Amino acid sequence: MVRFREHGVVRKKCRGCLRVALLYPSVYSAAVHSLAYQNLYYMLNSLDYVVAERFVASSTTGPEEPPRSLETGAPLTGFDLVLVPVSYELDYVTLARMLLAAGVEPLRSRRRGGEQGLPPVVVGGPVPGMNPAVASGLADLVLVGEAEPLVPRLVEAAYELGAWRALEALSCSPGFLPGGGGCGSPVERVWQRGLDEAFHSTVQFRVPGSGEPWGEAYMVEVNRGCPHMCRFCMEAHFLLPVRSRSPGRVLELVDAGVEANGVRRVALYSLSFFDYPWADQVLEGLLDRGLEATVGSLRADTLNEDRVEMLARLGQRVVTVAPETFSPRLCRAIGKCILGDKVGEIAGWAWRRGMHVKLYLMLGLPGETRGDVESYARELGRLSREAPPRREAIRVSVNPLVPKPWTPMQYARFIDRRSYEERTRLLRRTQSRVLTVEALSYRYAYAQAVVARGDENVATLIAEWARLGGRLGQLKTAARRLGLDTDLYAERGAPGKPWLGMVRPGYPAAAVKKAWEYVLEAAGARGG
Ligand code: SF4
Repeated sequence: MVRFREHGVVRKKCRGCLRVALLYPSVYSAAVHSLAYQNLYYMLNSLDYVVAERFVASSTTGPEEPPRSLETGAPLTGFDLVLVPVSYELDYVTLARMLLAAGVEPLRSRRRGGEQGLPPVVVGGPVPGMNPAVASGLADLVLVGEAEPLVPRLVEAAYELGAWRALEALSCSPGFLPGGGGCGSPVERVWQRGLDEAFHSTVQFRVPGSGEPWGEAYMVEVNRGCPHMCRFCMEAHFLLPVRSRSPGRVLELVDAGVEANGVRRVALYSLSFFDYPWADQVLEGLLDRGLEATVGSLRADTLNEDRVEMLARLGQRVVTVAPETFSPRLCRAIGKCILGDKVGEIAGWAWRRGMHVKLYLMLGLPGETRGDVESYARELGRLSREAPPRREAIRVSVNPLVPKPWTPMQYARFIDRRSYEERTRLLRRTQSRVLTVEALSYRYAYAQAVVARGDENVATLIAEWARLGGRLGQLKTAARRLGLDTDLYAERGAPGKPWLGMVRPGYPAAAVKKAWEYVLEAAGARGG
């Protein structure tokens, strides 16, 4: 274990403090890149009555050692509270595997945690926040909303009342949904008002020199939410409304962060960076400081040649854009129209500066036909012909639409395996020296789709799947043992869409339904 070389570890001795096990339901390298997890670690430890220690998985499948904290090696069950941020659906399986390895029953209804003197398990993040029906089968409390307003309230109450009594006291108030649900009315999503006032880490843990792609960068969040509200995008729906950090505060964090972490690179976190009103000003500020920068998500229609030039000067090697579809009909349906000409123009700007272009395409949109995908292949062929004779000038990542709760696509049907594989084959035929196509495995996406629109039965499935080892191939075995039809969940989601009655995200369910009607209309997929 390399942790003795780790930078940024908090070693806190604190008599009588609330001890929080901050569990990241994946491996260390994923935890390092989670700005949400980094912020939680330092936010909790900034409170003088809390000590937080980190737990990560040793792998994402297979047998797991009993989890021990990275700071002191203490076991999970020795803490007062277990707090778990969940960003991806399959993180639940790793969480369940880690609980099992710690000797803790992953299913809440079987756990009797309070009676057994175990710490309560609290989960938060976009996945449980938008569909607590699965989370509440595993956790004792689900946080519905953002960490900054909710976590301090939780730990303060836990410190004063004891963790289990705090759960009782907070349950069903805005942002706090008890395990098993049962509030009578939906729990309101809670969000952080001003980002300048919100906690943001300066020091960030990592293992220096580990070679992790983003490991040598200071991560800073510039804004939250996205004004485009594409109809499949759960992050944009969960992070409503759009909020920005002031440029002065961003640059103040950058100055402190690069110094505290001994790095010269900054990773700018944003769902759509150039929608941030001070994006150019911040990039110029980084250039003036002689820093390098990485910007993950770029909405293609906010790019221009000057911006691509600025990114190149900041050392960015790849321009990533996600058109999702090249079909004018389907783009209107999903609310995201970045068509071939625009992509070609951006690619030209990037190639002239020696950069690569990464494109994301989505298969299985409502109303999509084989003919649509053939037109994508023609578009990729055209791009290839325009590309410079450079290895991997274009990298294409293909993913199926995984319909997410509380988005208009929650009503969509998940693509079947045959269509997905046939359509990915069509796209793969465009591969050449300059263009590579990578497609997400159907099995992985299928498992995500089962969990995304799941219910309490899916929580039982996750626990059983984790007992078997959590490998993708073991999902169906676990389902067979329980007599559960995973195709039903993957294709259409849990009957009755229980999440609709559990949370109030800040917009009405009727608006989501209306937007879905529009999707069908625009895609020419009525009845589909
Ligand atoms: S532009 Fe990207 S981040 Fe914004 S809503 Fe669309 S998919 Fe989500």
